[in-house]
Amino acid sequence: AAATATRRVRDGAEAKEKPKKKEKLSSLCKTPPSIVRTRNGRDYQRGLFLGEGGFARCFQMKDSSGQIFAAKTVAKASIKNEKTKTKLLSEIKIHKSLKHPNIVNFIDCFEDDVNVYILLEICPHQSLMELLKTRKVLTEPETRFFMTQVVGAIKYLHGRRVIHRDLKLGNIFFDPNMNLKIGDFGLASVLPAGDSRKYTICGTPNYIAPEVLGGKTTGHSFEVDIWAIGVMMYALLVGKPPFQSRDVQVIYERIKNIDFAFPPDKEVSPEAKALIKDLLSLNPLHRPTIDEILQYDWFKGPIPSTITPETLVGKPRNV
Ligand code: ADP
Repeated sequence: AAATATRRVRDGAEAKEKPKKKEKLSSLCKTPPSIVRTRNGRDYQRGLFLGEGGFARCFQMKDSSGQIFAAKTVAKASIKNEKTKTKLLSEIKIHKSLKHPNIVNFIDCFEDDVNVYILLEICPHQSLMELLKTRKVLTEPETRFFMTQVVGAIKYLHGRRVIHRDLKLGNIFFDPNMNLKIGDFGLASVLPAGDSRKYTICGTPNYIAPEVLGGKTTGHSFEVDIWAIGVMMYALLVGKPPFQSRDVQVIYERIKNIDFAFPPDKEVSPEAKALIKDLLSLNPLHRPTIDEILQYDWFKGPIPSTITPETLVGKPRNV
């Protein structure tokens, strides 16, 4: 079974590990002062609380020109041990190196006495997780629109040898223009050139690939992100993740046995089913590569030219 020590479980609405006695690290983060002054003398005005994960709390921040950002705020008290510090520095280093229209833009990073702040482009329409919660299920053209953007961003990541390792609906945000932005590089890793693999067990139960559950002997690589694309595509079209259960151990058993089905009351096209089936292959080498995904017939279907904020509340009339 997968070790729990290194696993971070964060998606509020999705299955969780047994409640931990330990407090969330993010609860150590006190609300930042109303004016945050950086060491090089720039002032930011703190605004609304945007949300929290296991590690960070996020606030709106306004600079002196009135531009609004999101500040991921991590309490220094929560990064006392070396491992946590190394992880945060790795997240910053990787995220800072990325620039793509479908990746949350990294703006700056600074600290005061109490917190470290990661300043990011603001994504005011929340994530695909909240969208799905409101809409229950999306249409195939909408899902195609979103998947095209997600695949484009992951193609960019994999091209730079970055594995995200925590792709899930709650980590894919909307910018003001309803474009998707992949965020949270807290578990991301850069794979050195050559045939190396990663051996740390991490991820969120519903989205974990079977080879990660296999433990330290097999290792994992880029294919874990491809698996997560399959989980997300299924969830958007069916309304819940494919291996969903209240019991995390049941989720893991289902993942290891590829035990999922398409509910008969949900209309999912044969082309979508064929792609999901390949993405959720047990053997990572049988999954399509990021370049192969867009060649599937499902991507030849209709695609909306734009998505409007009305999408957040109801099914669009023409798709
Ligand atoms: P953690 O690494 O602790 O999981 P996240 O990166 O998931 O932290 O951020 C925590 C929460 O903050 C998210 O669930 C979301 O509600 C909010 N958030 C994160 N980034 C942004 C952003 N760029 N714009 C708006 N809200 C954000």
